Amino acid sequence: MNFIDSHCHLHDSRIISDIPWIEDRAKIANVQYMVSCATMVDNFELTAQLSKDFPSILPCFGIHPWFVGSISRQWKERLEHYLLTYPSGIGETGIDFTDKTCDREAQIKVFQHHLILARELERPINIHVRNAWDTFIHILKKTGKLKVPGLIHSYSGSADMIPLFESHGLYISFSGSVTNPRAKKVVNALKRVSKDRFVLETDTPDIYPYLPEYLLEPEASRLNEPGNLPAIARIASDIIGMGFEQFSNHAYENSLKVFHPVLEGKKI
Ligand SMILES: [Zn+2]
Repeated sequence: MNFIDSHCHLHDSRIISDIPWIEDRAKIANVQYMVSCATMVDNFELTAQLSKDFPSILPCFGIHPWFVGSISRQWKERLEHYLLTYPSGIGETGIDFTDKTCDREAQIKVFQHHLILARELERPINIHVRNAWDTFIHILKKTGKLKVPGLIHSYSGSADMIPLFESHGLYISFSGSVTNPRAKKVVNALKRVSKDRFVLETDTPDIYPYLPEYLLEPEASRLNEPGNLPAIARIASDIIGMGFEQFSNHAYENSLKVFHPVLEGKKI
């Protein structure tokens, strides 16, 4: 049984010096690949370097919606340079209207550019959506079905929207938030998603899982890592009443389908 962590941030300064050990523990946990998403131009190079140092790390390059306010004028060229230089996906990108003062128009423009690149370069896209579902659906309908599958990371939307996203070529990614006993909406979404459309992620180093044995750790040292993925898969499989192995195999196969273009590029 193998796993793919479909969304994490291994460049994060809180964990960067521990990557060799984090990678070891991921291997022991049968996490075969880790999709590490950059979030701004400043961490493109580090993300690229990680993917060169560790064959199990698949890079994605993009501008996270939280950081559109600080983008340089050359961000488009830098993004294209990295996408064309490395076998990679696109992201983390998306829209997040949680902060009422955010520049919504800027987020939408930047996100739409990522969608165009995903279509032109035929790359998987790793999408972040928070409190912006109507706008996201509007953009999707305008863009049409993706050429290569993408995913909505750490899904927080309603179960009712899932068929629409699936019909647009999107996979639904579940993080450790499914292990939170208060996360009823996420649980409903997990129950609704098609068996051939869910993937799993840790969002390392964030979204620390709600597992009794993990919560014994002091709060200050609670940094998530890809090696926690099987524990998340076990809880998620229990929620939908599917065997752990069957559930994990579905998630793995689905993730392979999404990141197929990156894996093919790595082999060349
Ligand atoms: Zn993320």
